[in-house]
Parts: sequence; structure tokens; C-alpha cells
Amino acid sequence: MPTRATKRGDERTPLDLDCDVLICGASFAGLTVARGLAGSPSRPRVVVVDRYEIGERQTSACAVPLPWLELLDLTDAVRQTFRRIVAHTATRTFSWALPEPFATFDYRHLCELLAAQGDFTFETAKVESRGPAPRPGEPIEVTTDRGPIRAPLVVDALGWRRVLAPASEATIQPPEAHLSRGLEVHPEGTSGELALYLNPRYVPDGYAWSFPAGDEVRVGVGSFDPHEHVKEPTVRLADDLGRPTDGFQGNWIPHRLRPATGDGVFFVGDSAGHCLPLTAEGIRPAFHFGLVLGRELRHVVEGRQTREQALGRYASLSAQKHPAYRWLLRLQRLVGRLIPHRRTLDAALGAASPFSISTRAWGAYLRTLSTSAWGAAPSAATPGRRVAARPAPAPSARS
Ligand SMILES: Cc1cc2nc3c(=O)[nH]c(=O)nc-3n(C[C@H](O)[C@H](O)[C@H](O)COP(=O)(O)OP(=O)(O)OC[C@H]3O[C@@H](n4cnc5c(N)ncnc54)[C@H](O)[C@@H]3O)c2cc1C
Repeated sequence: MPTRATKRGDERTPLDLDCDVLICGASFAGLTVARGLAGSPSRPRVVVVDRYEIGERQTSACAVPLPWLELLDLTDAVRQTFRRIVAHTATRTFSWALPEPFATFDYRHLCELLAAQGDFTFETAKVESRGPAPRPGEPIEVTTDRGPIRAPLVVDALGWRRVLAPASEATIQPPEAHLSRGLEVHPEGTSGELALYLNPRYVPDGYAWSFPAGDEVRVGVGSFDPHEHVKEPTVRLADDLGRPTDGFQGNWIPHRLRPATGDGVFFVGDSAGHCLPLTAEGIRPAFHFGLVLGRELRHVVEGRQTREQALGRYASLSAQKHPAYRWLLRLQRLVGRLIPHRRTLDAALGAASPFSISTRAWGAYLRTLSTSAWGAAPSAATPGRRVAARPAPAPSARS
């Protein structure tokens, strides 16, 4: 269970701050943006706020393609690596080689490593609202439960709630919104299998998983239909696997891209709907768009572009991925329709299983957001082995 370390009582002093860049949210997306600003010769004053201490609150099974951890020099947080992924249907098992290894990692450790690569002041505060759209050059005021913080560059990396959305934007509330929902338990145990379950016994429109991470196994259920409850299916899967139901954690998961900017604010990660539909893989997109946004903001603080130019460029770089996201959403709908039809599902997965087809399909999926866009070579890690860290290359100007 996570330890709550958030400041309480007298430690919760009032805030009234001005800075150059305010990053709201200290998880995958926000910390990656902060990393991109570190070492800038213009030494921007960067403030990161989160309602919890860094790494305090895990909301993910923390599985990611290993090359992303290598790129960002985060491999010390790796708990286990995998060269294959296994899909269990009600009656059959399919095992696919992965063109890139996947890794599960320790959330707190990874956040600490990522934060250590940044150069910022951190405050625990709940972000509540924002002021009106600024005129060029003017700061935006963000209200927190400890007081206001003003900055010309404001990032919302707060997750699916999109707290700093423009007032004109229609608010989306589950279960009516374009959101999936996920819940998992983290019992102690070991396994060598990175496993998916496509079985209506657990969820008719979605998938379940069992992701080992060293001495614990993350067992959960994700439903593409936000109306479906996932607690009972999670307990059922854990029971079927003989795992205790320890350490529940869950969240809503966006499955549609949203505008990446709005009224002067930059959105990144789940707040911009960057989580990939079909798989609900959101860490890799948070890293990718965090790097993109970090680079754009760095150009602003170094006087190489204005905030307005950065808003335009970043919005368009995010929107360029629309076609890929639309495809994945279509596939998500198709898979959702197939799961209740066991024979058709088995036939479709069987047809996709020959090595040449499955590695091509996984390769296409992984290239949606690939480390090669940042100049990294593919990883050659060995299964089950921890990988030595190497320095992360500087982001290239592509992607
Ligand atoms: C059960 C489950 C399992 C998952 N497993 C995987 C997986 O294995 N691999 C994968 O790639 N993706 C997975 N995902 C998706 C992934 O967790 C998200 O896409 C990812 O966390 C998004 O990162 P983010 O930085 O945008 O937002 P988040 O990780 O949600 O971080 C948002 C941050 O903002 C803070 N915050 C929120 N509101 C406020 C506020 N008002 N004031 C101050 N701070 C606030 C939060 O404390 C948090 O630190 C999973 C999701 C779920 C629900």
C-alpha cells in the first residue's frame, strides 16, 4: 500500500508564487516536461505541484517498452523484463514474440529518478482552477488549495480530469465521457509471464492482465465501456489465478485525443488524451509528449520562440498523431465486439499469430510512438534480466 506523505496541518503553509514555468502534476508526463527544461542556460524558475509527494501514488501496472526506460536513463527502476506477451482467451493461449522487450518497473523509484533529472521547486498542493486566457506575454494564474501560482508557461499534466481546461470546454464526467476504466491489485508473488486475458468471464469489452514485477504481480481489469464495473471481475481474476486481492488501485483512462492546448495552457499525458486506445498504454505517450513539450517550452524560455508559437507548434505536433489514435480506437471497438464471440476471437487471434504477422503487427503498434523518433537504437535486452543504465541521448528536433 502506498504511504501517504503529503504535507498536512501546519506544514501546509500558504503559497503565493511567481515562476517562469508551472508544471501541474508530478507523474510520468509532468516530470518528463520538467526534465526537458533542466540545464537550460536561461535557468528558468520551474515549479512542479502535485497533491501528493513525488512517487507516492501509483495508478498503473507500470509496464512499458524497455527502450523508453533506456532512453530516459530510468532502467534502475526496472523490476522485470519480457520478450514475449501471452494472450489467454476462454479456450486457447497465444504467445507472441515482442519486437521490443517490455519492462515492469517500480513507480516510486522511477518517479524519483525522473525528478532527479529535473531542476525545479516542488510543492504539494491541490490544483483547483485557472484564471482567464492571458494576453501575449501575460502570466496565467493558477489557484491551488494553498494559494495562487502565476507563470507565463503553464502545463496541465494532471491526468484525465483536465483540471485547467478552458471554461468554454464542455466538462466530461465518467461514465458518459470517452474514458475506459481500470482497476488492479498488487499481491506478492512471482511469475515469468506477461499475460493478457481476452475473456468475457472478466470483461466483455476490454481486457484483463497479470503483469509480474519482481516480487509482486499486478492483476487487473480494464473496461473500454466506462459503465462496466471492474471490481468484481478483478477479484474473480485474482481468485482464478490464486492471488490475494491486496492493494487495490484504479483510475479512469482516456481513450481519445483531446486538444493539447487551450486558453494558453499546455496539456500533456492523460489530460490531453495521449493514452493509447486499444491497450490503455499511457506511460509511453506521456514520455513522448512530455519530451516534445519540454523541448518546445525550453525554446520559449531561451527566447527562440514565443509562447504563442509554442502553443501552435505543440498543438499541431499532438494533432499529427490523430490518424494513429483513430485507428487504435477502431481496433479497440473491433476487439470489444469480438471478445464475446469466442470462436471468432480465437480464429482472428490464430490468424494473427504466425511470427511474421504478429511481430509486424506489434512493430506497427510500437512505432506509433517510438524511441527512434528521439534518435535511439532498438534495445537488445535479454528476458528476465535487469539492464544496466546508460546516459539518455539529447532529444532530437524530429517528432
Ligand atoms: C489500473 C491501471 C493500470 C494501468 N497500467 C498501465 C501500464 O501498465 N502501462 C501503461 O503504459 N499505462 C498504464 N495505465 C495508464 C497510465 O497509468 C496513464 O496513462 C498514465 O499514468 C498517464 O500519466 P500522466 O502523467 O498523464 O497522468 P497520471 O499518472 O494520472 O498523473 C497525474 C498526476 O497529477 C496529480 N493530480 C491529479 N489531480 C491533481 C490536482 N487537482 N492537484 C494536484 N495534483 C493532481 C496526481 O496525483 C498525479 O501525480 C494504467 C492505468 C490504470 C488505471
